Amino acid sequence: MKDERLIAPCGMNCGLCVAYLGQKNDISKKGFHRTYCPGCIPRGKHCTHMADSCEKVGLGLVRFCTECGDYPCRRLKQLDKRYRDKYHMSMIRNLNEIREKGMDAFLQSQEEKWNCPDCGGTICCHNGLCLSCDLDLWL
Ligand code: SF4
Ligand code: SF4
Ligand SMILES: [Zn+2]
Repeated sequence: MKDERLIAPCGMNCGLCVAYLGQKNDISKKGFHRTYCPGCIPRGKHCTHMADSCEKVGLGLVRFCTECGDYPCRRLKQLDKRYRDKYHMSMIRNLNEIREKGMDAFLQSQEEKWNCPDCGGTICCHNGLCLSCDLDLWL
């Protein structure tokens, strides 16, 4: 998961996303038919969460929202709250950590935080499961 291209401008770690991990583990072969996505930056569309509502992100004018004079804007705070409430992660905390400690340290801490203890894969933030070894628990 140590790929900084998986960190979206809004601070989302696409490496934890069900669409990214579904693709990585090719879950359709195991009977789960979900949308696949290679990540915001790799798919060339910047951040899907913010691209439609923010021109700076949509046009790729900022690599991260922390470069923006309005950071953290109301829309980012709303997105952040939704993810804190539902998915146990915070885009704003991610962005601040990248700014304070640097990308390498951030990626290292993300890997440790979301590591699957059983197979060394990655736990998905959206359903709390490892899509490599916990698929039988996914309803
Ligand atoms: S669906 Fe969105 S959050 Fe998930 S990997 Fe794709 S761009 Fe990233
Ligand atoms: S912080 Fe700035 S760049 Fe990021 S979504 Fe808000 S207005 Fe756009
Ligand atoms: Zn696992």
